[in-house]
Amino acid sequence: MSFHHRSESATGHYSELNYSSGAKWIKGLTQSRLGTFLGGHFSDVNLSSVLFTHRLDNAEHVKLEVWSAPGLTKPTFEEALKQKFKPARKGDSFGPSWTNHWWKVSVTIPDYWEQYERVQFEFDPGCEAMIYDVDGTPLQGITGGFGGDRRVEYIIPMEARKEGTHDFIIESSCNGMFGVPWNGDTIAPPDMNRYFALASADLVVPNQDAWHLLWDFSTLREIVDSLPGNTSLQNKALVVANEIMNSFKSGDASDIRRCRKIAEEVFGENWQDEDENIYRDNKQAQIWGIGHCHIDTAWLWPYRVTQQKVARSWATQVDLMKRYPEHRFSCSQAQQYKWLKQLYPPLFDRVKEQVIAGKFHPVGGSWVENDSNMPSGEALVRQFVFGQKFFKENFGIRCETAWLPDSFGLTGAYPQLIRGAGMKYFFTQKLSWNNINIFPHSTFNWVGIDGTQVLCHMTPVDTYTAQASVGDVQKGLTNHKNLESSATSLLVFGNGDGGGGPLAKMLENLRRIRATNNHSRDLPPINMGHSVDEFFEHLMETTATGKKLPNWHGELYLEFHRGTYTSHGSIKKGNRHSEILLRDVEHVATLASIVKTSEYTYPKGEIDECWEKVLLNQFHDVLPGSAIGMVYEDAEKLYAEVGKDGKALMEEAFQVLFPNSIPLTPETKLQPNTSLNQIIGYNTTFFDRREIVQFPLVGASAGLKTAVAQVDQSSKIGYAVMDNGVLDASIANNLDLHASAYTNGSDHFVLRNSSVQLTISNGRITSLVDVQLRRELIADGATGGLIIFEDRPNYWDAWDVEIHHLETTTSLKFTNVSVVAHGPLRASVQAQVKYGKSTINVLISLDAVGATLKPGSRSMFRFDVEVDWRERHEFLKFELPLNIHNDNAYYETQFGYVQRPTHKNTTWDMAKFEVCGHKYADLSEYGYGLAILSESKYGFSCQGNVLRISLLRAATAPDAEQDQGEHKFSWAVMPHKGHFLESDVPMAAYLFNSPMHVRYLLGDKDAIAASFTNHPSFAIHGAPNVFLETIKRGEYDDFDTSSSESDYCTTVIARLYEAFGGHAHATLVIGDHLSGRVVKAVTTNLLEDEDKEEEVQIMDDTNLGPVLKLNFRGFEVKTLKVTLSEQSDMLAFTENRTQQSQKTKRLTKRTSWIDIDGLKLAARED
Ligand SMILES: [Zn+2]
Repeated sequence: MSFHHRSESATGHYSELNYSSGAKWIKGLTQSRLGTFLGGHFSDVNLSSVLFTHRLDNAEHVKLEVWSAPGLTKPTFEEALKQKFKPARKGDSFGPSWTNHWWKVSVTIPDYWEQYERVQFEFDPGCEAMIYDVDGTPLQGITGGFGGDRRVEYIIPMEARKEGTHDFIIESSCNGMFGVPWNGDTIAPPDMNRYFALASADLVVPNQDAWHLLWDFSTLREIVDSLPGNTSLQNKALVVANEIMNSFKSGDASDIRRCRKIAEEVFGENWQDEDENIYRDNKQAQIWGIGHCHIDTAWLWPYRVTQQKVARSWATQVDLMKRYPEHRFSCSQAQQYKWLKQLYPPLFDRVKEQVIAGKFHPVGGSWVENDSNMPSGEALVRQFVFGQKFFKENFGIRCETAWLPDSFGLTGAYPQLIRGAGMKYFFTQKLSWNNINIFPHSTFNWVGIDGTQVLCHMTPVDTYTAQASVGDVQKGLTNHKNLESSATSLLVFGNGDGGGGPLAKMLENLRRIRATNNHSRDLPPINMGHSVDEFFEHLMETTATGKKLPNWHGELYLEFHRGTYTSHGSIKKGNRHSEILLRDVEHVATLASIVKTSEYTYPKGEIDECWEKVLLNQFHDVLPGSAIGMVYEDAEKLYAEVGKDGKALMEEAFQVLFPNSIPLTPETKLQPNTSLNQIIGYNTTFFDRREIVQFPLVGASAGLKTAVAQVDQSSKIGYAVMDNGVLDASIANNLDLHASAYTNGSDHFVLRNSSVQLTISNGRITSLVDVQLRRELIADGATGGLIIFEDRPNYWDAWDVEIHHLETTTSLKFTNVSVVAHGPLRASVQAQVKYGKSTINVLISLDAVGATLKPGSRSMFRFDVEVDWRERHEFLKFELPLNIHNDNAYYETQFGYVQRPTHKNTTWDMAKFEVCGHKYADLSEYGYGLAILSESKYGFSCQGNVLRISLLRAATAPDAEQDQGEHKFSWAVMPHKGHFLESDVPMAAYLFNSPMHVRYLLGDKDAIAASFTNHPSFAIHGAPNVFLETIKRGEYDDFDTSSSESDYCTTVIARLYEAFGGHAHATLVIGDHLSGRVVKAVTTNLLEDEDKEEEVQIMDDTNLGPVLKLNFRGFEVKTLKVTLSEQSDMLAFTENRTQQSQKTKRLTKRTSWIDIDGLKLAARED
């Protein structure tokens, strides 16, 4: 080496005289010098000057024609090619933002280029693009511009070079990897009018040796910059890189060869001859490299752009696999695979080939990488059911690793659900974004609220878009939090968020890092060529199947992005209401399909279509409200479709269960002399319920009017009590809870019944009393009501509400208060709140019934609100300062609840100043508590004794118009005697979210209708803590009625869970109209797998009929599959009697087993 005079020292001769200056360097200056070897000020003489041997862009060699698709349309390849193309040139501009432009490219390659290793077409439209062959097969993506994700070269195939010409097609789309943000600020709303210039459309010969030298030099430089300065490798790399610069003269072929040889001093002699075999010995690897491409299913771009990103990114990866045999690519989200299958079938086939070859790895097992805070438990189950089903049907495999690197916090319900979906491993990363505490683990057992564990790895590299740099590899070890029990990390590399994935330069870099490591201890060894599942298997092997690992119990709360529980209220509402609508649809459709098999087929396809839309919108930037406005236009449309289709499906099913009936609303026109029993309610929850219903009085018979205990101000609408679906005049006339409203005529209003009383005085809630206990629930001297906080987060506007928002509060007053209903069934006051440019109309109501039918259940105060929201960066909440003390509050989470602190003892406690809850949040102490129930809001907090529900935010990035305009939502305040754990809060919250389906029978009630009103098909006895969440038909039932010889099977799935966190011994009662048809009952996993079936004995209870005994541990979720004989007892139909009797024969044995064993067992128990 030049200034270390190695040649002399090698001789062993040590000169007597030394007149030289010595070799000590100024290390920092040498290190800085490395920055001048590529690009920059010296690009005409440094390595950049020799990267290309030839470059042609003239019309003789490059012929371009273009067709611009009109507006924001996105035509298919076939449609586009039918259009009239016109000549185009390098330098032309295209736009505006989000438009698509199609190019026909024809290149002519000079004969003398045959001598070169590679010929490329370099296409840089400044935006994203995709190259297709002339038959429409996507070949690879293009990312224009000059960012780190730049990928503009397309390698001309060797056959085409031989022919001398090559034709291909390009689709360019006017958005960048991260959309088209204003002023380059990532989260700024999109610039809708951006134009992109075609910067390059050149035929080039890259100087491959020069490129390899560039990659050599880059790796050396990374070693210099990433390793500690006192390591020998770091110093050696600097010496070698410096030597390369000194040896690079004109950059001719011999120069470059010489420079590359110098680099071998770090990488090893002839290291490059090894190619992918450089990874051959991988036993000791500490860093496991896996290619990945995080594609946000929508974020700073809409769904339709994502579909293109998927095709571009994955085509590129399939292409890279040809040249880098060690390359493995993990890829999540079944929805994206489905889009590829629908929109790019030839590419889907190529991906499938690589999946089968074991190089392209589906991971995650879910439909999308969903938000995990807000979807319901059942929705999380469906994410897996739909995801795993897609992977199984299309690739014959199921995922073994759940994969949510970017979701904003992870519910403690997940471990159980992951295991239930056939997986035991979990990969994530986002908690490295915590802005208060550092999460203490990298590899750990994650134990959920019910005690189920999964093996979790949170990569120490702290990113799922690693650049495969030396620093990334190094961080995999230096940032590992559990080196005492495991010293292995996953390096998830490849450009992402907006797609892209690994680049060739990353794979080249990793080869060099591994080459270095093969003879140096200063870098952790990295391997390639494995799957994520294999990585986890290795963790299992090296940690005594997890026993050596630490545990983390409960939720993985993200200390960041706490505004996402509230941002975009309409989306939250769309989610909650769609989830409940689909639950009701499945419930009603299941019953219709099993009771009247001849006239109704379970609409599995339609229901699945609705679910796919709901699951899609649960993507981790859509449901959280952190996407651009365009995304919400699409999401709202999907929810509208689900609403419309779901209601239509439910109506069809109701027509089967209650023929000749319509939904009853106060606006319905009654036929003359409508009788009491023509109005019924259908309850899709399995809780007994009593509520106030309203119906028109015009047309009501005298009998129906006896049920009316209150009329509205117009005297046209009657109020009555409905008890478990039946109008009950006797209850209405003998009320024990009389609701009333009164006022002093100016500023004092009281809503009261004999259980609770609420006072509004001078615009604030000054008193809330448990009348029976004479207990004041509002803290002394404090008031409750609406409140505004200044909401200016430090950066991530739509995502974050920051802790300092709590320091700026403005209490709002109810004004224009008036009594609008006086009772005795319902008492209401109407109020208005004016703030800034916004108007909030509030209707507060109290009914003459308890929140549930549990003895002693107090009534709830219902708040129905209509808001015209015109604020910016203000946060609207509702709060109650309570005379209740507890260090923890309770919040509903999926299939259970979670406790969070109400105090600020530690920074971990402080961090939870805004949290996610589902249908309720509760503050309780011994003897008493109060819950806020929510119908579409997910943000809550409890600071000390102040319980709050978060209502509306108004961020301006990335959607400048977030939450502006009209909103309608509701919440309820529910005092309860006894601690939360003894309360009926979860039941009341369930009922609050699932209104009774009130129906008007136009004819008389028939036998089936009567049976459904009075006797639920499934009920739970003996365990008030066990909830029945879902009734649906079996995922694998055959609904194809046309195939007469199919092995037809009728199964009903019931999903149950324990809701309070304790053991239970529950009895599931199967209703009258199904008794005699139950052939078999089993529990299964969430995927309803047959090989996971465990028989449940069916017993005959003399009073209840057929029952199933089920044991639960706290928060356990159980999936029950009940097989029915096909024939409905209630509906004998002759057409297929023969078929029926054959099937009955087939089932005889099992039927008798149940009868005999069931009776025997029942007898034994006695
Ligand atoms: Zn993401």
